[in-house]
Amino acid sequence: MISYTLICAKGHEFAEHFDDFDDCQAKLKAKALKCPTCGSKSLTKGLSAPNVGGQAAAPAPTCPAAGGCMNGACGLKR
Ligand SMILES: [Zn+2]
Repeated sequence: MISYTLICAKGHEFAEHFDDFDDCQAKLKAKALKCPTCGSKSLTKGLSAPNVGGQAAAPAPTCPAAGGCMNGACGLKR
């Protein structure tokens, strides 16, 4: 079991669990998944989720606007 972050065409990020990388690729290719926020099936895999032993994950990118844009317009987490 591995967790990947997926990003839809509108920039919504969400995590999905897959058996492995191939399972992830297959489901993306088959459009078997959709964004829970907007229902878009245009998904791309984001940075690998920090589900792998021990090492601290790199900090998530943050919105460059002061205080964050708050609406996800920049596609980054606030
Ligand atoms: Zn979306």
